[in-house]
Amino acid sequence: MTRVVLVGPPGAGKGTQAATLSDKLGVPHISTGDLFRSHINAETELGRRVKGILDSGGLVSDELTIEMVCGRLGEPDTEDGFLLDGFPRNVRQADLLSNILADRDEKLDAVIELQVDEDALVRRLLARGRADDNEDVIRHRQQVYRSETQPLLDYYRDLLITVDGVGEVDEVTDRLLAALRDRT
Ligand code: ADP
Repeated sequence: MTRVVLVGPPGAGKGTQAATLSDKLGVPHISTGDLFRSHINAETELGRRVKGILDSGGLVSDELTIEMVCGRLGEPDTEDGFLLDGFPRNVRQADLLSNILADRDEKLDAVIELQVDEDALVRRLLARGRADDNEDVIRHRQQVYRSETQPLLDYYRDLLITVDGVGEVDEVTDRLLAALRDRT
């Protein structure tokens, strides 16, 4: 059980959980949000192109996103698996991911949805205080999640595991690990 996608609304705790989970599973954590933010910090050409989009809470174009993900998945540490966090974020990206994996004779093992109700999400995000964490931008990101990303839950219905993301960080980690174990 090593090729896993983590899906969930902004603030669900994907990044926090993915860090621990990737450690336990022994596969790299690939977060498109983190990758974009490191390009922005390093002031690369890609970083300059995507900064305004991240600040406003919209989605970066599929072309730029896919190119970056393709590059990352081309690195040798992904051979035994990976934990994708924040990608795919819409059905088109999901189709492109299955093409990439098909070329490698690989398939996803599981898609985990981290489920958290909306009030808890806004509370958490306002507390986090990242550059794109003010109330208007958060609301916009949640709308984008509902319209673009939620359809993936149906797209991946055969692989989907839903895990309750409310509770202590360690509790949620245990739930995630138990859910993955049950699948194998
Ligand atoms: P969160 O989990 O709080 O939504 P992320 O770190 O995953 O935050 O993403 C931050 C921003 O990075 C998104 O709002 C979006 O602008 C951009 N982004 C991340 N992943 C993708 C993707 N797969 N496609 C398009 N844009 C993305």
